[in-house]
Amino acid sequence: MNKSETKNIYQELGICEKVYQYGQQVEQTLKERFASIDAIAEYNQLKVVHAMQKHKVSEACMYASSGYGYNDLGRDTLEEVYATAFGAEAALVRPQIACGTHALGVALSGNLRPGDELLSPVGKPYDTLEEVIGIRPSRGSLAEYGITYRQVDLLEDGSFDYENIKKAINSRTKLVTIQRSKGYQTRPTLSVSQIGELIAFVKSVKPDVICMVDNCYGEFVETIEPCQVGADLMVGSLIKNPGGGLAPIGGYIAGREEYVENAAYRLTTPGLGKEVGATLGVNQSFYQGFFLSPTVTAAAVKGAVFAANIYEKLGYAVVPDGREDRHDIIQAVTLGSAEAVIAFCQGIQAAAPVDSYVAPEPWAMPGYDSDVIMAAGAFVQGSSIELSADAPIKPPYAVYFQGGLTWQHAKLGILMSLQKLVDAGIVNL
Ligand SMILES: *Cc1c(COP(=O)(O)O)cnc(C)c1O
Repeated sequence: MNKSETKNIYQELGICEKVYQYGQQVEQTLKERFASIDAIAEYNQLKVVHAMQKHKVSEACMYASSGYGYNDLGRDTLEEVYATAFGAEAALVRPQIACGTHALGVALSGNLRPGDELLSPVGKPYDTLEEVIGIRPSRGSLAEYGITYRQVDLLEDGSFDYENIKKAINSRTKLVTIQRSKGYQTRPTLSVSQIGELIAFVKSVKPDVICMVDNCYGEFVETIEPCQVGADLMVGSLIKNPGGGLAPIGGYIAGREEYVENAAYRLTTPGLGKEVGATLGVNQSFYQGFFLSPTVTAAAVKGAVFAANIYEKLGYAVVPDGREDRHDIIQAVTLGSAEAVIAFCQGIQAAAPVDSYVAPEPWAMPGYDSDVIMAAGAFVQGSSIELSADAPIKPPYAVYFQGGLTWQHAKLGILMSLQKLVDAGIVNL
């Protein structure tokens, strides 16, 4: 195949010569980075296959259950596979978990009781959790059940404020929630080993406190997961990394058996717990998605590294920067204006396999405190392991880019975002 063939098809898709050439130049510099991302994917691929073999995943595991879902072999085996791959004692992996926020809400409300206190030692949690906790008053929040909340912000340089964390832990502190990913903030994402250090500190102050990690967007970015460095619970969404782009719904809660059980009693009811919950035919996509997740996550990480390098060289602030190690799949790019954020997101949308012909606009979304623009031409609605971008329309006008089921598609999306900024006269190449 000759190179002009590839250039021509980029042109047919709307990428001009200058943008294409700039992309090629940047990609040339990333060979070593990409090789190390592939090495992580290789390890994680083997880890997943190993877990599937260990638990004797069989053809029968792909079958659907209905009704109560008693004795769903596929569901129960998949939970063992997740637990083993994530270094946990047990896991709850269910299509009845509607999204990541729901998984976190279930883990929190299943393990907290009236009079308990919840502590976040890493600053403000993800927007949608503000209502779960009751930071923003909300019907049915933990606050309404008499569960109080305390927060210690990260220090200026992104490190932990150990002194104030120690002061914040008291006799009522029952659970500490640690968000791995930056979410909609420009703070750094935490590495698994940093999380381990924080957990060790918290346990040195109060050994019986439950340490929970919001692991959204972090799965398989490194070779270890939070439960392997002392987390009692880790929680995530199957329409992000571990669903591998194939899971149509779902969330997981993994960790110590007792705490996973508490969450199961909240997800269904006391007494029933994990015993009920039909899988209605999703088992195959859950297994296959988990199997693909290491390589899909690697594709998304390559896209994030590529985006960082593309925009950093143009003078934009990017978090993480072009050289930093990765601990999640999110790339923040501060574009500085609403127009630039909208153009970027419209570029991501224009590169999608689904709904590429629509132009996303800012909108008020449930759970968020400002208008948000979301670009996602996804096979699974709102799936953010697929190529997607989100931005709250408020200063500093940062866009959060993530996903890409293949590296090649992530590359197209980033080039298209740049194309829209060039077309709008915001960027000059
Ligand atoms: C996505 C995300 C959530 C919430 O997940 P939803 O599936 O959108 O409800 C929570 N925390 C973090 C860090 C996330 O990235």
